[in-house]
Amino acid sequence: MFDKILIANRGEIALRVVRACREMGIKSVAVHSTADSDAMHVRMADESVCIGPPPSSESYLSKAAIISACEITGAQAVHPGYGFLSENAAFAQALEDHGITFIGPSAEHIRIMGDKITAKETAKDLGIPVVPGSDGGVPDFETAIGVAAKIGFPVIIKATAGGGGRGMKVAKTAEELEIAFRTARSESKAAFGNDEVYIEKYLQRPRHIEIQVFGDGKGNAVHLGERDCSLQRRHQKVFEEAPGPAINAKLRAEIGAVCAKAMQKIKYIGAGTIEFLYEDEQFYFIEMNTRLQVEHPVTEAIFGVDLVREQIRVASGLPMSFTQEDLKITGHAIEVRINAEKLPLFAPRPGKVTQFHAPGGLGVRMDSAIYDGYRIPPHYDSLIGKLIVHGRDRPEALARLNRALGELIIDGIDTTIPLFDALLQEPDIQSGDYNIHWLEKWLLNKFGA
Ligand code: ADP
Repeated sequence: MFDKILIANRGEIALRVVRACREMGIKSVAVHSTADSDAMHVRMADESVCIGPPPSSESYLSKAAIISACEITGAQAVHPGYGFLSENAAFAQALEDHGITFIGPSAEHIRIMGDKITAKETAKDLGIPVVPGSDGGVPDFETAIGVAAKIGFPVIIKATAGGGGRGMKVAKTAEELEIAFRTARSESKAAFGNDEVYIEKYLQRPRHIEIQVFGDGKGNAVHLGERDCSLQRRHQKVFEEAPGPAINAKLRAEIGAVCAKAMQKIKYIGAGTIEFLYEDEQFYFIEMNTRLQVEHPVTEAIFGVDLVREQIRVASGLPMSFTQEDLKITGHAIEVRINAEKLPLFAPRPGKVTQFHAPGGLGVRMDSAIYDGYRIPPHYDSLIGKLIVHGRDRPEALARLNRALGELIIDGIDTTIPLFDALLQEPDIQSGDYNIHWLEKWLLNKFGA
C-alpha cells in the first residue's frame, strides 16, 4: 500500500479523497493554485504544494507542476478526482514514466474511451448495445443522407472529439440535415480542432442511465448497478438517483452483466461508468467515463462501499474487497448538486459565503469544501457541494431530501438550492416519471428560460 498520495484536484472531490486516505492511514498531499491557498482541501490534507497561478491551465492542468509536486513530497501515487487531468492519457503515461502510480485506468483504456468513435466501436466489439448510426466518421453530406435514410429521422450529429454536451445538432428532415451537418463540422473544428462528426439515431424521450463498473486490472470486474441521471440542463446533470426508478432487478442484472463482462475482457482497472440512453426497455451506449463520477456517492450509499478506497486498493495491487455476490442494494439514494449559480439562468455567482450550515441526521451526507467566510474563486467550476440522502425506499429518500434541504444554510451567495425545493413539489419527480428533456421543458414553462 502507498504511504503518500497526491490529489491532483480541488474542492469537494479533493476533500473526498483526503477523507479516504485518512481512513486508510495514508498521508495526503493537496495541490493548489494561488487562488486556493485558503481552500478546505489544503487545510485538511497532511501537506500542500502551491502549483501555480489561478488559471487551471497553469495550475491544476499543469502536468509538469504536478509531477514536480510528487517529487518534492515523495508521493507515490496520484488521485486525479474528476475533470482536470482525470481522463488525460498523456498524464497517466507521464506519471508512469516517472514511476508514479496513476489511480485510474491505463493510458491505453483512457485513450480508447476518450475518442467517441473508437469508444463506440470498442463497445460494439465487447457486446455492449450501441445507438444505431454511422459506422465511424461521416466524411460528406451524401454519406450523411445515406445513413439517415437507413436509420430514419430524427438524427443527431455529434463531434468525434466532442465532450461536455457540446458539438451536437439534431436534424428532423433532409433539409435540416444539410445545414446541421455543415454547422456541426465547422463548430467542431472551431471548438475541438477536429471537424470529424458522426451520426446517430436521435432518441426522443430516453432516460440517461449509467452503469458503475469496477475492475482489478487482472480480469476481475463487477458492476454496481445503475444511476438515473436524466435530470439535466444543457446536458449537465443536476439530480441523480440510484436505483433508477425505471429499472427493475432483471434489467439491472442483464445490462450489469454485459458491462462487467466487457470490463473483464479488457482487464479494466479501477472505477468506470458506462453511460447509456434508455428507451422502451432498450439500452444504447453513448460513452464511457474512465474515472470516478461526481455522482458516485449515490452508488456508495446503496451498496455501502467506499469507491475511492477501492480505487486506491486496486491501484496498489490489492484485490477488490467485494465480489459480485457481495454487492446487494439497500434502499434508495438521491444526490443534488449545489452550484453557486443564480436561477433561472444558472449564471455563475462566485462570492463570499457568509454563513454555512450543513444538514445532518440519519441518512444525510454533505460533500462540500465550503465554510463560513469562504470566498469562492471565480476561476473554476460552480459546483460547491453535493447533498446526498439515503432512505429505505424512494419515498423516504425524497422526504429526507426535503428535510435536509430545509436545514442547509448557505448565505451570501446565490445557489441552486431553490431549484430542488421546487422540483420536490412536482408530481413527476415524486413518481420518478421523467426523461432527459423533462427539466428543460419544466424550466421553460416555469421561467421561460
Ligand atoms: P458529452 O460527452 O458531450 O457529454 P454524450 O454523448 O455523453 O456527450 O451525450 C450527452 C447527452 O446528449 C446525453 O446525456 C443525452 O442527453 C444527449 N444525447 C446524446 N446522444 C443522443 C441520442 N442519440 N439521442 C438523444 N439524445 C442524445
